[in-house]
Amino acid sequence: MQGSMMTRPLMISALIQHADQNHADTEIVSRLPVGGTHRYTYHDAHRRSRQLVRALLALGVKATDRIGTLAWNTHRHFEIYYAVSGMAAITHTINPRLFPEQISYIVNHADDRFIFFDVNFAALVEALVPHCPGVKGWVAMCAASEMPANAIPNLLCYEDIVAAQSDDYEWTEFDENTASSLCYTSGTTGNPKGVLYSHRSTVLHAYGSSLPDGLGCSARECILPVVPMFHVNAWGLPYAAPLNGAKLVMPGPHLDGASLHALFEEEGVTMSAGVPTIWLGLLQHMQSKGLKLSTVKRLVIGGSAAPPAMIKAFDEQYGITVLHAWGMTEMSPLGTVNTYKQKQLALSAAEKDAIRVKQGRAIFGVEMKIVGSNGETLPRDGKAFGDLMVRGPWITGGYFKNEGGDVLVDGWFPTGDVATIDPDGFMQITDRSKDVIKSGGEWISSIDLENIAVAHPAVAEAAVIGAPHPKWDERPLLVVVKKAGQDVTKEELIKFYDGKIAKWWTPDDVIFVDDLPHTATGKLSKLQLRERLRDYRFTGV
Ligand code: ADP
Repeated sequence: MQGSMMTRPLMISALIQHADQNHADTEIVSRLPVGGTHRYTYHDAHRRSRQLVRALLALGVKATDRIGTLAWNTHRHFEIYYAVSGMAAITHTINPRLFPEQISYIVNHADDRFIFFDVNFAALVEALVPHCPGVKGWVAMCAASEMPANAIPNLLCYEDIVAAQSDDYEWTEFDENTASSLCYTSGTTGNPKGVLYSHRSTVLHAYGSSLPDGLGCSARECILPVVPMFHVNAWGLPYAAPLNGAKLVMPGPHLDGASLHALFEEEGVTMSAGVPTIWLGLLQHMQSKGLKLSTVKRLVIGGSAAPPAMIKAFDEQYGITVLHAWGMTEMSPLGTVNTYKQKQLALSAAEKDAIRVKQGRAIFGVEMKIVGSNGETLPRDGKAFGDLMVRGPWITGGYFKNEGGDVLVDGWFPTGDVATIDPDGFMQITDRSKDVIKSGGEWISSIDLENIAVAHPAVAEAAVIGAPHPKWDERPLLVVVKKAGQDVTKEELIKFYDGKIAKWWTPDDVIFVDDLPHTATGKLSKLQLRERLRDYRFTGV
Protein backbone atom coordinates (compact mmCIF):
# COMPACT_ATOMS: atom_id res chain seq x y z
CA MET A 1 0.00 0.00 0.00
CA GLN A 2 1.31 3.43 -0.93
CA GLY A 3 1.19 6.39 1.41
CA SER A 4 -1.20 9.13 0.46
CA MET A 5 1.33 11.97 0.55
CA MET A 6 2.16 14.26 -2.38
CA THR A 7 5.23 13.41 -4.41
CA ARG A 8 6.36 16.96 -5.07
CA PRO A 9 9.82 16.98 -6.69
CA LEU A 10 12.79 18.43 -4.78
CA MET A 11 13.82 21.39 -6.96
CA ILE A 12 16.77 23.76 -6.56
CA SER A 13 14.60 26.66 -7.81
CA ALA A 14 12.29 26.04 -4.84
CA LEU A 15 15.10 27.14 -2.49
CA ILE A 16 15.39 30.62 -3.94
CA GLN A 17 11.61 30.90 -4.30
CA HIS A 18 11.24 29.99 -0.64
CA ALA A 19 13.88 32.53 0.39
CA ASP A 20 12.14 35.26 -1.63
CA GLN A 21 8.72 34.50 -0.13
CA ASN A 22 9.87 34.16 3.46
CA HIS A 23 13.10 36.14 3.70
CA ALA A 24 12.65 38.75 0.98
CA ASP A 25 14.68 41.42 2.76
CA THR A 26 17.50 39.18 4.02
CA GLU A 27 20.76 40.33 2.50
CA ILE A 28 23.36 38.85 0.20
CA VAL A 29 26.53 40.94 0.42
CA SER A 30 29.44 40.47 -1.99
CA ARG A 31 32.98 41.79 -2.22
CA LEU A 32 33.47 42.23 -5.94
CA PRO A 33 36.54 41.12 -7.90
CA VAL A 34 36.74 44.61 -9.44
CA GLY A 35 36.64 46.19 -5.98
CA GLY A 36 33.81 47.53 -3.88
CA THR A 37 30.90 45.87 -2.13
CA HIS A 38 27.57 44.83 -3.62
CA ARG A 39 24.53 44.51 -1.42
CA TYR A 40 21.04 43.24 -2.23
CA THR A 41 18.39 40.79 -0.98
CA TYR A 42 16.99 37.33 -1.65
CA HIS A 43 14.11 39.09 -3.39
CA ASP A 44 16.53 40.81 -5.79
CA ALA A 45 18.55 37.62 -6.31
CA HIS A 46 15.39 35.72 -7.20
CA ARG A 47 14.31 38.40 -9.66
CA ARG A 48 17.69 38.57 -11.36
CA SER A 49 18.02 34.76 -11.52
CA ARG A 50 14.78 34.66 -13.49
CA GLN A 51 16.02 37.43 -15.79
CA LEU A 52 19.14 35.37 -16.30
CA VAL A 53 17.10 32.30 -17.28
CA ARG A 54 15.49 34.41 -19.98
CA ALA A 55 18.93 35.62 -21.08
CA LEU A 56 20.17 32.02 -21.30
CA LEU A 57 17.12 31.00 -23.31
CA ALA A 58 17.75 33.95 -25.66
CA LEU A 59 21.31 32.67 -26.15
CA GLY A 60 19.89 29.31 -27.20
CA VAL A 61 20.80 27.42 -24.03
CA LYS A 62 18.71 24.27 -23.64
CA ALA A 63 18.06 21.75 -20.87
CA THR A 64 21.13 19.55 -20.17
CA ASP A 65 23.55 22.10 -21.70
CA ARG A 66 26.60 22.61 -19.53
CA ILE A 67 27.36 26.21 -18.55
CA GLY A 68 30.85 26.71 -17.12
CA THR A 69 31.88 29.26 -14.51
CA LEU A 70 35.36 30.56 -13.69
CA ALA A 71 34.39 32.75 -10.81
CA TRP A 72 34.77 33.71 -7.16
CA ASN A 73 31.97 33.73 -4.61
CA THR A 74 29.74 36.66 -5.55
CA HIS A 75 26.03 37.42 -6.01
CA ARG A 76 26.38 36.89 -9.77
CA HIS A 77 27.80 33.40 -9.30
CA PHE A 78 24.87 32.74 -6.93
CA GLU A 79 22.39 33.86 -9.63
CA ILE A 80 24.05 31.55 -12.17
CA TYR A 81 23.67 28.59 -9.77
CA TYR A 82 19.90 29.16 -9.64
CA ALA A 83 19.22 30.25 -13.22
CA VAL A 84 21.18 27.47 -14.92
CA SER A 85 20.00 24.58 -12.74
CA GLY A 86 16.51 26.08 -12.53
CA MET A 87 16.04 25.79 -16.31
CA ALA A 88 17.31 22.16 -16.23
CA ALA A 89 20.71 23.06 -17.67
CA ILE A 90 23.85 22.17 -15.68
CA THR A 91 26.13 24.57 -13.77
CA HIS A 92 29.71 23.46 -14.26
CA THR A 93 31.94 25.20 -11.73
CA ILE A 94 35.59 25.22 -12.80
CA ASN A 95 38.52 25.72 -10.45
CA PRO A 96 40.52 28.64 -11.91
CA ARG A 97 43.57 27.62 -9.88
CA LEU A 98 44.06 24.51 -12.02
CA PHE A 99 46.65 24.58 -14.80
CA PRO A 100 45.24 25.97 -18.09
CA GLU A 101 45.71 22.54 -19.74
CA GLN A 102 43.60 20.93 -17.00
CA ILE A 103 40.94 23.63 -17.42
CA SER A 104 40.67 23.17 -21.19
CA TYR A 105 40.56 19.40 -20.67
CA ILE A 106 37.64 19.84 -18.25
CA VAL A 107 35.80 22.38 -20.45
CA ASN A 108 36.03 20.05 -23.45
CA HIS A 109 35.20 16.94 -21.47
CA ALA A 110 32.11 18.64 -20.07
CA ASP A 111 31.15 20.10 -23.49
CA ASP A 112 30.56 23.53 -21.96
CA ARG A 113 28.38 25.74 -24.22
CA PHE A 114 29.00 29.07 -22.53
CA ILE A 115 31.49 30.12 -19.88
CA PHE A 116 30.81 32.85 -17.36
CA PHE A 117 33.97 34.40 -15.89
CA ASP A 118 35.11 37.07 -13.47
CA VAL A 119 37.04 39.82 -15.24
CA ASN A 120 40.22 39.09 -13.31
CA PHE A 121 40.32 35.77 -15.20
CA ALA A 122 40.19 37.53 -18.59
CA ALA A 123 43.82 36.71 -19.45
CA LEU A 124 43.24 33.07 -18.53
CA VAL A 125 40.13 33.03 -20.71
CA GLU A 126 42.04 34.57 -23.62
CA ALA A 127 44.57 31.73 -23.34
CA LEU A 128 41.81 29.11 -23.11
CA VAL A 129 39.81 30.27 -26.14
CA PRO A 130 41.89 28.52 -28.88
CA HIS A 131 41.73 25.24 -26.93
CA CYS A 132 37.98 25.29 -26.30
CA PRO A 133 36.34 25.29 -29.75
CA GLY A 134 32.99 24.01 -28.42
CA VAL A 135 32.36 27.12 -26.32
CA LYS A 136 29.88 29.38 -28.16
CA GLY A 137 30.34 32.45 -26.02
CA TRP A 138 32.20 33.87 -23.03
CA VAL A 139 30.25 36.01 -20.57
CA ALA A 140 32.19 38.53 -18.48
CA MET A 141 30.53 38.80 -15.05
CA CYS A 142 30.61 42.60 -14.83
CA ALA A 143 28.94 45.83 -15.93
CA ALA A 144 29.46 47.27 -19.45
CA SER A 145 31.96 49.81 -18.10
CA GLU A 146 34.11 47.03 -16.61
CA MET A 147 34.45 44.84 -19.71
CA PRO A 148 37.94 43.40 -20.28
CA ALA A 149 39.97 44.57 -23.27
CA ASN A 150 41.37 41.09 -23.97
CA ALA A 151 40.99 39.42 -27.35
CA ILE A 152 38.06 37.15 -26.53
CA PRO A 153 35.69 36.25 -29.38
CA ASN A 154 31.93 36.11 -28.76
CA LEU A 155 32.37 38.12 -25.60
CA LEU A 156 29.19 39.09 -23.77
CA CYS A 157 28.51 41.35 -20.80
CA TYR A 158 26.63 39.78 -17.86
CA GLU A 159 24.85 42.95 -16.76
CA ASP A 160 23.79 43.74 -20.33
CA ILE A 161 22.30 40.33 -21.05
CA VAL A 162 20.45 40.35 -17.72
CA ALA A 163 19.18 43.93 -18.11
CA ALA A 164 17.78 43.11 -21.54
CA GLN A 165 15.31 40.60 -20.07
CA SER A 166 12.20 40.81 -17.94
CA ASP A 167 11.79 38.73 -14.78
CA ASP A 168 8.52 37.39 -16.09
CA TYR A 169 9.58 33.76 -15.85
CA GLU A 170 7.92 30.89 -13.97
CA TRP A 171 10.21 28.11 -12.77
CA THR A 172 9.30 24.80 -14.32
CA GLU A 173 9.14 21.50 -12.47
CA PHE A 174 10.74 18.33 -13.74
CA ASP A 175 12.13 15.04 -12.47
CA GLU A 176 14.06 15.69 -9.27
CA ASN A 177 16.79 13.29 -10.44
CA THR A 178 17.66 15.66 -13.31
CA ALA A 179 21.32 16.71 -13.31
CA SER A 180 21.84 20.17 -11.82
CA SER A 181 25.55 20.82 -11.46
CA LEU A 182 28.92 19.35 -12.28
CA CYS A 183 32.17 19.55 -10.35
CA TYR A 184 35.46 17.89 -11.26
CA THR A 185 37.72 16.41 -8.60
CA SER A 186 41.10 18.07 -8.64
CA GLY A 187 42.66 15.00 -10.21
CA THR A 188 45.53 14.46 -7.81
CA THR A 189 45.73 11.10 -9.60
CA GLY A 190 45.01 10.86 -13.35
CA ASN A 191 42.66 13.16 -15.23
CA PRO A 192 40.03 15.10 -13.29
CA LYS A 193 36.72 13.24 -13.06
CA GLY A 194 33.30 14.89 -13.00
CA VAL A 195 30.71 14.42 -10.28
CA LEU A 196 27.22 15.20 -11.56
CA TYR A 197 24.83 16.29 -8.83
CA SER A 198 21.02 16.23 -9.15
CA HIS A 199 18.27 18.50 -7.86
CA ARG A 200 17.27 15.78 -5.42
CA SER A 201 20.80 15.19 -4.10
CA THR A 202 21.41 18.92 -3.76
CA VAL A 203 18.21 19.67 -1.85
CA LEU A 204 18.61 16.65 0.45
CA HIS A 205 22.21 17.67 1.14
CA ALA A 206 21.03 21.20 1.93
CA TYR A 207 18.52 19.80 4.45
CA GLY A 208 21.01 17.38 5.99
CA SER A 209 23.86 19.86 6.27
CA SER A 210 21.58 22.42 7.98
CA LEU A 211 20.86 20.19 10.99
CA PRO A 212 21.95 21.40 14.45
CA ASP A 213 24.59 18.67 14.57
CA GLY A 214 25.45 19.37 10.94
CA LEU A 215 26.47 22.95 10.18
CA GLY A 216 23.62 24.36 12.26
CA CYS A 217 22.22 26.84 9.73
CA SER A 218 19.21 29.00 10.59
CA ALA A 219 17.50 32.33 9.87
CA ARG A 220 19.57 33.83 12.70
CA GLU A 221 22.92 33.11 11.09
CA CYS A 222 25.08 35.26 8.85
CA ILE A 223 27.07 32.79 6.76
CA LEU A 224 30.28 33.55 4.91
CA PRO A 225 31.48 30.68 2.70
CA VAL A 226 35.24 31.15 2.32
CA VAL A 227 35.32 27.82 0.53
CA PRO A 228 34.93 28.75 -3.13
CA MET A 229 31.81 28.04 -5.14
CA PHE A 230 34.08 26.11 -7.53
CA HIS A 231 35.06 23.74 -4.71
CA VAL A 232 32.10 21.37 -4.27
CA ASN A 233 29.53 24.17 -4.51
CA ALA A 234 31.06 26.02 -1.54
CA TRP A 235 30.18 22.92 0.50
CA GLY A 236 26.50 23.46 -0.37
CA LEU A 237 26.17 26.74 1.58
CA PRO A 238 24.67 28.70 -1.36
CA TYR A 239 21.79 26.19 -1.13
CA ALA A 240 21.59 25.81 2.67
CA ALA A 241 21.55 29.61 3.25
CA PRO A 242 18.33 30.31 1.27
CA LEU A 243 16.75 27.10 2.59
CA ASN A 244 17.11 28.61 6.06
CA GLY A 245 16.88 32.29 5.22
CA ALA A 246 20.39 33.01 6.53
CA LYS A 247 22.18 36.18 5.49
CA LEU A 248 24.91 35.34 3.00
CA VAL A 249 28.26 37.13 2.69
CA MET A 250 30.36 36.41 -0.38
CA PRO A 251 34.08 37.26 -0.05
CA GLY A 252 34.97 37.47 -3.77
CA PRO A 253 38.69 36.82 -4.32
CA HIS A 254 39.85 38.37 -1.03
CA LEU A 255 40.60 35.37 1.20
CA ASP A 256 43.63 36.61 3.17
CA GLY A 257 43.43 36.99 6.96
CA ALA A 258 43.11 40.80 6.93
CA SER A 259 40.33 40.92 4.31
CA LEU A 260 38.36 38.14 5.97
CA HIS A 261 38.70 39.67 9.42
CA ALA A 262 37.42 43.03 8.15
CA LEU A 263 34.47 41.43 6.35
CA PHE A 264 33.55 39.26 9.35
CA GLU A 265 33.40 42.37 11.53
CA GLU A 266 31.64 44.67 9.04
CA GLU A 267 28.85 42.24 8.19
CA GLY A 268 28.39 40.54 11.57
CA VAL A 269 29.29 37.10 10.27
CA THR A 270 28.31 34.34 12.72
CA MET A 271 29.53 31.30 10.86
CA SER A 272 32.07 30.55 8.16
CA ALA A 273 33.61 27.57 6.40
CA GLY A 274 36.93 26.81 4.73
CA VAL A 275 40.09 24.68 4.56
CA PRO A 276 42.73 24.83 7.35
CA THR A 277 45.16 26.98 5.31
CA ILE A 278 42.63 29.83 5.30
CA TRP A 279 42.20 29.71 9.06
CA LEU A 280 45.94 29.60 9.55
CA GLY A 281 46.10 32.93 7.68
CA LEU A 282 43.30 34.41 9.80
CA LEU A 283 44.83 33.22 13.08
CA GLN A 284 48.25 34.63 12.20
CA HIS A 285 46.70 37.96 11.24
CA MET A 286 44.68 38.22 14.44
CA GLN A 287 47.57 37.11 16.65
CA SER A 288 50.03 39.54 15.09
CA LYS A 289 47.60 42.50 15.30
CA GLY A 290 46.01 41.59 18.63
CA LEU A 291 42.52 41.41 17.07
CA LYS A 292 39.36 39.56 18.13
CA LEU A 293 36.22 38.50 16.30
CA SER A 294 33.08 39.95 17.84
CA THR A 295 30.28 38.02 16.10
CA VAL A 296 31.71 34.74 14.79
CA LYS A 297 30.47 31.74 16.80
CA ARG A 298 31.37 28.77 14.60
CA LEU A 299 33.98 27.97 11.98
CA VAL A 300 33.60 24.87 9.85
CA ILE A 301 37.01 23.42 9.06
CA GLY A 302 37.33 20.62 6.54
CA GLY A 303 38.94 19.55 3.31
CA SER A 304 42.05 18.53 5.28
CA ALA A 305 42.49 17.54 8.90
CA ALA A 306 42.00 20.49 11.26
CA PRO A 307 45.08 20.48 13.52
CA PRO A 308 44.12 20.23 17.23
CA ALA A 309 46.29 23.27 17.95
CA MET A 310 44.10 25.33 15.60
CA ILE A 311 40.88 24.03 17.14
CA LYS A 312 42.24 24.92 20.61
CA ALA A 313 43.47 28.37 19.55
CA PHE A 314 40.06 29.37 18.18
CA ASP A 315 38.30 28.00 21.23
CA GLU A 316 40.56 29.26 24.00
CA GLN A 317 41.80 32.57 22.56
CA TYR A 318 38.71 33.64 20.62
CA GLY A 319 35.75 31.71 22.10
CA ILE A 320 34.90 30.26 18.69
CA THR A 321 33.70 26.67 18.25
CA VAL A 322 35.40 24.79 15.45
CA LEU A 323 33.18 22.31 13.65
CA HIS A 324 35.59 19.77 12.27
CA ALA A 325 33.96 18.30 9.17
CA TRP A 326 34.87 15.73 6.58
CA GLY A 327 33.60 15.09 3.09
CA MET A 328 34.56 14.99 -0.53
CA THR A 329 33.49 16.18 -3.97
CA GLU A 330 31.88 12.79 -4.53
CA MET A 331 29.72 13.37 -1.41
CA SER A 332 28.28 16.84 -2.22
CA PRO A 333 30.50 17.12 0.08
CA LEU A 334 29.30 16.66 3.64
CA GLY A 335 29.80 13.29 5.37
CA THR A 336 30.60 13.92 9.02
CA VAL A 337 30.66 16.81 11.47
CA ASN A 338 32.18 16.76 14.94
CA THR A 339 29.85 17.86 17.72
CA TYR A 340 29.66 16.51 21.27
CA LYS A 341 26.91 14.24 22.51
CA GLN A 342 25.03 15.10 25.68
CA LYS A 343 26.92 12.44 27.68
CA GLN A 344 30.26 13.93 26.59
CA LEU A 345 29.62 17.46 27.82
CA ALA A 346 30.77 16.66 31.36
CA LEU A 347 34.06 15.04 30.27
CA SER A 348 37.41 16.52 31.24
CA ALA A 349 39.12 18.97 28.89
CA ALA A 350 41.66 16.32 27.88
CA GLU A 351 38.93 13.78 27.10
CA LYS A 352 37.06 16.36 25.04
CA ASP A 353 40.24 17.26 23.16
CA ALA A 354 40.62 13.62 22.19
CA ILE A 355 37.11 13.65 20.71
CA ARG A 356 37.27 16.89 18.81
CA VAL A 357 40.33 16.04 16.72
CA LYS A 358 38.20 13.36 15.06
CA GLN A 359 36.35 14.11 11.83
CA GLY A 360 33.00 13.53 13.52
CA ARG A 361 29.77 11.59 13.23
CA ALA A 362 27.84 10.84 10.05
CA ILE A 363 24.91 13.14 9.44
CA PHE A 364 21.70 11.26 8.69
CA GLY A 365 21.75 10.30 5.02
CA VAL A 366 25.38 9.16 5.09
CA GLU A 367 26.15 5.54 5.97
CA MET A 368 29.75 4.60 6.67
CA LYS A 369 31.75 1.44 7.25
CA ILE A 370 35.43 0.54 7.31
CA VAL A 371 36.70 -2.57 5.58
CA GLY A 372 39.92 -4.59 5.71
CA SER A 373 42.07 -5.77 2.81
CA ASN A 374 39.67 -8.61 1.95
CA GLY A 375 36.64 -6.35 2.02
CA GLU A 376 35.58 -7.62 5.46
CA THR A 377 33.77 -5.10 7.66
CA LEU A 378 35.95 -4.06 10.61
CA PRO A 379 34.67 -3.34 14.11
CA ARG A 380 33.55 0.14 15.17
CA ASP A 381 35.86 0.10 18.18
CA GLY A 382 37.90 3.25 17.53
CA LYS A 383 41.04 1.14 17.07
CA ALA A 384 40.71 -0.97 13.93
CA PHE A 385 41.42 1.09 10.86
CA GLY A 386 40.54 0.29 7.29
CA ASP A 387 39.27 1.69 4.00
CA LEU A 388 36.32 3.99 4.54
CA MET A 389 33.24 3.21 2.43
CA VAL A 390 30.12 5.37 2.18
CA ARG A 391 26.67 5.35 0.64
CA GLY A 392 23.70 7.67 0.62
CA PRO A 393 21.39 9.83 -1.52
CA TRP A 394 23.97 12.62 -2.00
CA ILE A 395 26.92 10.33 -2.72
CA THR A 396 27.93 9.67 -6.31
CA GLY A 397 27.23 6.32 -7.96
CA GLY A 398 29.90 6.91 -10.63
CA TYR A 399 31.67 9.64 -12.59
CA PHE A 400 30.42 11.80 -15.45
CA LYS A 401 30.49 9.98 -18.80
CA ASN A 402 31.29 6.83 -16.85
CA GLU A 403 34.96 7.83 -16.48
CA GLY A 404 36.70 5.20 -14.40
CA GLY A 405 33.89 2.68 -15.01
CA ASP A 406 32.12 1.05 -12.10
CA VAL A 407 33.48 2.62 -8.98
CA LEU A 408 31.10 1.19 -6.39
CA VAL A 409 31.94 -1.93 -4.40
CA ASP A 410 28.72 -3.78 -3.50
CA GLY A 411 26.85 -0.48 -3.67
CA TRP A 412 29.38 1.41 -1.49
CA PHE A 413 31.65 4.23 -2.63
CA PRO A 414 35.31 3.74 -1.62
CA THR A 415 36.51 7.11 -0.33
CA GLY A 416 40.24 6.44 -0.61
CA ASP A 417 40.55 7.43 3.03
CA VAL A 418 41.73 5.20 5.85
CA ALA A 419 39.81 5.64 9.08
CA THR A 420 38.66 4.34 12.44
CA ILE A 421 35.07 4.54 13.72
CA ASP A 422 34.43 4.43 17.47
CA PRO A 423 31.40 2.93 19.25
CA ASP A 424 29.83 6.43 19.48
CA GLY A 425 30.03 6.74 15.69
CA PHE A 426 32.94 9.23 15.62
CA MET A 427 35.07 8.63 12.55
CA GLN A 428 38.74 9.58 12.45
CA ILE A 429 40.76 9.76 9.26
CA THR A 430 44.25 8.40 9.79
CA ASP A 431 45.29 9.09 6.21
CA ARG A 432 44.47 9.09 2.58
CA SER A 433 45.28 5.56 1.48
CA LYS A 434 48.06 6.86 -0.77
CA ASP A 435 49.63 8.94 2.02
CA VAL A 436 49.80 6.24 4.69
CA ILE A 437 53.41 5.55 5.72
CA LYS A 438 54.18 1.87 5.55
CA SER A 439 56.96 1.06 7.97
CA GLY A 440 58.01 -2.57 8.44
CA GLY A 441 54.57 -3.82 7.35
CA GLU A 442 52.80 -1.55 9.86
CA TRP A 443 50.96 1.68 9.07
CA ILE A 444 51.81 5.09 10.48
CA SER A 445 49.31 7.95 10.25
CA SER A 446 50.87 11.02 8.65
CA ILE A 447 47.99 13.16 9.93
CA ASP A 448 48.72 12.26 13.57
CA LEU A 449 52.36 13.23 13.13
CA GLU A 450 51.48 16.52 11.43
CA ASN A 451 48.98 17.39 14.16
CA ILE A 452 51.68 17.02 16.80
CA ALA A 453 54.23 19.07 14.85
CA VAL A 454 51.89 22.05 14.36
CA ALA A 455 51.20 22.10 18.09
CA HIS A 456 54.82 23.24 18.56
CA PRO A 457 54.88 27.02 19.07
CA ALA A 458 57.58 27.59 16.42
CA VAL A 459 55.86 25.60 13.67
CA ALA A 460 53.58 27.30 11.14
CA GLU A 461 52.86 24.33 8.88
CA ALA A 462 54.04 20.73 8.73
CA ALA A 463 53.81 17.75 6.40
CA VAL A 464 54.91 14.18 6.95
CA ILE A 465 55.64 11.83 4.08
CA GLY A 466 57.06 8.33 3.90
CA ALA A 467 60.62 8.41 2.57
CA PRO A 468 62.30 5.23 1.30
CA HIS A 469 64.22 3.28 3.91
CA PRO A 470 66.45 0.25 3.22
CA LYS A 471 65.29 -1.68 6.27
CA TRP A 472 61.75 -0.51 7.02
CA ASP A 473 60.55 0.16 3.48
CA GLU A 474 59.39 3.67 4.47
CA ARG A 475 60.01 5.89 7.48
CA PRO A 476 58.33 9.19 8.38
CA LEU A 477 60.07 12.37 7.24
CA LEU A 478 58.83 15.62 8.79
CA VAL A 479 58.91 18.75 6.62
CA VAL A 480 58.37 22.00 8.49
CA VAL A 481 57.74 25.68 7.77
CA LYS A 482 58.78 27.74 10.81
CA LYS A 483 56.72 30.68 12.04
CA ALA A 484 58.22 34.05 11.11
CA GLY A 485 60.81 35.11 13.70
CA GLN A 486 60.74 31.74 15.53
CA ASP A 487 63.39 29.08 15.72
CA VAL A 488 63.48 25.40 16.55
CA THR A 489 65.98 22.62 15.86
CA LYS A 490 65.52 19.16 14.41
CA GLU A 491 66.42 17.60 17.78
CA GLU A 492 63.87 19.74 19.64
CA LEU A 493 61.12 18.75 17.23
CA ILE A 494 61.93 15.05 17.45
CA LYS A 495 61.97 15.32 21.24
CA PHE A 496 58.56 17.03 21.04
CA TYR A 497 57.06 13.67 19.98
CA ASP A 498 58.19 11.95 23.21
CA GLY A 499 55.27 10.44 25.08
CA LYS A 500 52.74 11.63 22.49
CA ILE A 501 52.88 8.59 20.19
CA ALA A 502 54.39 5.10 20.01
CA LYS A 503 58.16 5.53 19.89
CA TRP A 504 58.51 3.83 16.49
CA TRP A 505 56.16 6.39 14.89
CA THR A 506 58.62 9.24 15.62
CA PRO A 507 59.90 10.88 12.40
CA ASP A 508 63.44 9.83 11.55
CA ASP A 509 64.41 13.23 10.19
CA VAL A 510 63.23 16.84 9.90
CA ILE A 511 63.67 19.17 6.94
CA PHE A 512 63.02 22.92 7.21
CA VAL A 513 61.58 24.62 4.12
CA ASP A 514 60.28 28.12 3.27
CA ASP A 515 56.95 26.87 1.96
CA LEU A 516 54.96 23.72 1.31
CA PRO A 517 53.19 22.95 -1.97
CA HIS A 518 49.38 23.22 -2.01
CA THR A 519 46.75 21.86 -4.40
CA ALA A 520 44.26 23.95 -6.34
CA THR A 521 41.84 23.55 -3.45
CA GLY A 522 44.35 24.86 -0.89
CA LYS A 523 45.36 21.52 0.61
CA LEU A 524 48.86 20.29 1.24
CA SER A 525 49.98 18.51 -1.90
CA LYS A 526 51.81 15.42 -0.71
CA LEU A 527 52.15 14.40 -4.35
CA GLN A 528 54.21 17.50 -5.18
CA LEU A 529 56.11 17.29 -1.91
CA ARG A 530 57.08 13.68 -2.58
CA GLU A 531 58.16 14.81 -6.05
CA ARG A 532 60.28 17.67 -4.60
CA LEU A 533 61.92 15.28 -2.15
CA ARG A 534 62.27 12.40 -4.59
CA ASP A 535 66.03 12.22 -4.08
CA TYR A 536 65.91 12.49 -0.31
CA ARG A 537 67.61 9.60 1.56
CA PHE A 538 67.99 9.12 5.32
CA THR A 539 71.65 9.37 6.28
CA GLY A 540 73.48 6.83 8.40
CA VAL A 541 71.24 3.87 7.55
P1 ADP B 1 40.39 16.61 -3.87
O1 ADP B 1 41.20 17.16 -2.74
O2 ADP B 1 40.86 15.29 -4.38
O3 ADP B 1 40.02 17.61 -4.90
P2 ADP B 1 38.05 16.76 -2.26
O4 ADP B 1 38.14 18.22 -2.11
O5 ADP B 1 36.78 16.13 -2.58
O6 ADP B 1 38.99 16.24 -3.33
O7 ADP B 1 38.74 16.13 -0.99
C1 ADP B 1 38.26 14.98 -0.37
C2 ADP B 1 39.32 14.44 0.54
O8 ADP B 1 39.85 15.44 1.39
C3 ADP B 1 38.84 13.36 1.46
O9 ADP B 1 38.74 12.13 0.81
C4 ADP B 1 39.89 13.40 2.55
O10 ADP B 1 41.04 12.67 2.18
C5 ADP B 1 40.25 14.85 2.62
N1 ADP B 1 39.54 15.48 3.74
C6 ADP B 1 38.42 16.21 3.68
N2 ADP B 1 38.08 16.66 4.91
C7 ADP B 1 39.00 16.18 5.77
C8 ADP B 1 39.20 16.28 7.18
N3 ADP B 1 38.40 16.96 7.97
N4 ADP B 1 40.27 15.63 7.70
C9 ADP B 1 41.11 14.93 6.93
N5 ADP B 1 40.98 14.81 5.60
C10 ADP B 1 39.94 15.42 5.03
